[in-house]
Amino acid sequence: MAASPRRKSVAVNIGGVRVGGAHPIVVQSMTNTDTADSSATVNQIMELARAGSELVRITVNTDEAARAVPRIVDTLRTFGVNVPIIGDFHYNGHLLLKKYRDCARALAKYRINPGNVNIGRKQDDNFKVMIEAAIEYDRPVRIGVNWGSLDSVLLTSMMDENSKSPEPLDAMEVTMRAIVESALRSAEAAERYGLGHDKIILSAKVSNVQDLIHVYQMLAARCDYPLHLGLTEAGLGSKGIVATTAALSVLLQQGIGDTIRSSLTPLPNGDRTDEVLVCQQILQALNLRSFTPQVAACPGCGRTTSTFFQDMADQIQTYLREQMAIWREKYVGVEDMKVAVMGCIVNGPGESKHANIGISLPGTFESPVAPVYVDGKLSTTLRGDSIVAEFRAILDAYVAQRYGVTEREEVAV
Ligand code: SF4
Repeated sequence: MAASPRRKSVAVNIGGVRVGGAHPIVVQSMTNTDTADSSATVNQIMELARAGSELVRITVNTDEAARAVPRIVDTLRTFGVNVPIIGDFHYNGHLLLKKYRDCARALAKYRINPGNVNIGRKQDDNFKVMIEAAIEYDRPVRIGVNWGSLDSVLLTSMMDENSKSPEPLDAMEVTMRAIVESALRSAEAAERYGLGHDKIILSAKVSNVQDLIHVYQMLAARCDYPLHLGLTEAGLGSKGIVATTAALSVLLQQGIGDTIRSSLTPLPNGDRTDEVLVCQQILQALNLRSFTPQVAACPGCGRTTSTFFQDMADQIQTYLREQMAIWREKYVGVEDMKVAVMGCIVNGPGESKHANIGISLPGTFESPVAPVYVDGKLSTTLRGDSIVAEFRAILDAYVAQRYGVTEREEVAV
């Protein structure tokens, strides 16, 4: 079974990365450093980009942050990191974009929150000023509505209207509709001020999974702007990962979504790049994109008395991820490879045969040998203390032989 065809949308160019249209769904992330601290911000952007983030958003909230932006982008380019940098503006974006022209120029896209730039009030100069900056510097914008900062004037007027209706909707439904209205009316205003239709991306974030699905379905049905998906305030650890995966998977399966972010709250001393890996895993699990070879590993049970196979599965997955920095350039299609590391004879040989390459480790009371299957056939049997190293060597040889076609073709030419 495959996901539904992608919803039709215009393509938007963000500093060379195309979002929407028929382009692959783009993974993005956001820093949590103080942007004014340019060294810390550069380091984190580099980590996120290295992990595979194709766009990185940074907070631009003060004069110091705005002044740091060109320095940050210049430093990244000096190090050969070309990931487009997006500026996240709230409240004072109109002032900062006007005052700091180098900042406006250095950013590849501006994120505007219509709930806090006075759109909907009598005069919406601040929103207009930001759109004028986007037009002047030929930059796209994301009009990002968030229910935590929804345009209160619009919401109040829709609530009033609803209360007069003979069959009033519940307050949450009105709120969801107000989120969609806020995004669409802001986009309409941006185009009225002269911004191109292909310069606008929309998002409409809420923190409840079912509400998020509902709000994006409504938005998707009413426009052809590319949509940025994300469950806002997803939360910590497994709760955040599961909620994000649940919400985004349903929408992506329905063909909705052109770029995604996982808004996880990092655990203390946690790794910010987790949000990138979660996005990649969601897309790869849905067969929408491939990023790194996947390891199928069983959960283990009473048939295994040691954690050896779990350690091995972890070591192999880490090895594959590390190798991808080199393999990506050298071996076309290697990211689609499937590897199995299994704990006993019950499902081990079967799962290993379904993988490109698999190993079935011995369970309790089984003979201490580990058969290795390559392309569905028994290739060799490993034993002893160096099983991990030997399996890695077999993996390396398989990758070179199976995915090294490009190199061989180049030699032949
Ligand atoms: S493959 Fe074997 S060890 Fe792994 S979960 Fe199944 S029965 Fe248990």
